[in-house]
Amino acid sequence: MADYRQMWTDLGMDLEKHDILCQVLPDAFGSVYLSQENRPEGMDYFNFVVAEIHGVRPSELIAHQQKGGKVFGTFCVYVPDEVIFAAGAIATGLCGGSQFWVPGGEKVLPANTCPLIKASVGARLDGTCPFFKIADMYIGETTCDGKKKAWEILNEHVPVHVMDLPQMKRAKDIKAWEDEIKILIQRVEEQCGTKITAASLAENIKLINGKRQALARLYNTRKNSPVPISGKDVLLITQIAFYDDPARFTEQVNALCDELDARIAKSEGVIPADAPRILITGTPMAIPNWKLHHVLESSGAAVVVEELCTGTRYFENPVDESKTTIDEQIKALAERYMKINCACFTPNTGRIDDILRLVKEYKVDGVVDCNLQFCGTYSTESYLVDRALKEAGIPVLHIETDYSDQDFEQLRTRVQAFLEMLEK
Ligand code: SF4
Ligand code: SF4
Repeated sequence: MADYRQMWTDLGMDLEKHDILCQVLPDAFGSVYLSQENRPEGMDYFNFVVAEIHGVRPSELIAHQQKGGKVFGTFCVYVPDEVIFAAGAIATGLCGGSQFWVPGGEKVLPANTCPLIKASVGARLDGTCPFFKIADMYIGETTCDGKKKAWEILNEHVPVHVMDLPQMKRAKDIKAWEDEIKILIQRVEEQCGTKITAASLAENIKLINGKRQALARLYNTRKNSPVPISGKDVLLITQIAFYDDPARFTEQVNALCDELDARIAKSEGVIPADAPRILITGTPMAIPNWKLHHVLESSGAAVVVEELCTGTRYFENPVDESKTTIDEQIKALAERYMKINCACFTPNTGRIDDILRLVKEYKVDGVVDCNLQFCGTYSTESYLVDRALKEAGIPVLHIETDYSDQDFEQLRTRVQAFLEMLEK
């Protein structure tokens, strides 16, 4: 990584602690990613983004602020990025995916909080992530209890605007989300000193839809056998989607897809065609959480699709682009976002339907349902996921894990036994 120490000092980061993270990340990335053979050349851009993760994009965000622009940090796929970009601001995902940040979160949160929340809080309080330091405002949501309480703690350090997400999907709930988007628009406008217009919203609905279409194209290539790209690489690209510049990201993903199309035409793959095809479902995998994909693919499986917020939940269902007034556009945004199927909803049968549909579309041999420790909603929903998959005759493996590597070998043993069972 180039030298960004002055920038990190100016941000008030803890450089000594941050150096430890900078030392371990390249090794982890090297052993999980760079050890793969026959990776597409189009991955070079994404490798570069990770190598410079705390440098290049943070510098761009700071340059935007120096020109008077604002940066908003988000934690959930229900928050509409379109609104933030339409105000001339930048949205950046902030979910923490590393064990490195967990102890910092545990200083203020109960130990039995999910690692995603602990890592996100720890990244801010420890001052070891430039993105958390740069954001002028965080946008939280009322998805789960842990997050709701975490916003109160984070709000002591940085302004947090909380969107009240309804947890049912009746017409009145969709209307309520529409109202929440209106409140978000007001808050973002106040913060930025700009006015969101129908024209700026239309432009940014198109921008974010473009990113969704590129990701859909990428995921579609994985329906082929052999798969032209590893699941690990697609996970990395999806994680980068949350904070990279959307137009540049879309261009890079489309260029990669051109290369993958050429591979498909030649039946060229990265994982043998007879490898068991796996769908992963469960809680999100924030960067740099690559553990489960690494265990699966280094044990001989091909991860072909993820029913995750770092997966299909992020890009399926584009926003209707035909609306021309602000009110219609907000309604279209509310309708699109309320199609996401998170376990915080009751009922959440749409998620089960999605899993069964994706199993067919991606010709899946087995499902791994993987939840973060202490995530009550997803681990409770596992019962319904399990029953639906068993009724459909699809083998399923349930895993509960955290960000540490302590269970790595135990996971490998369980995964290998599952894959052997699929091969029989
Ligand atoms: S799992 Fe639910 S709360 Fe978490 S990012 Fe996804 S939609 Fe948001
Ligand atoms: S993984 Fe579960 S507990 Fe953790 S933030 Fe998401 S919904 Fe909340």
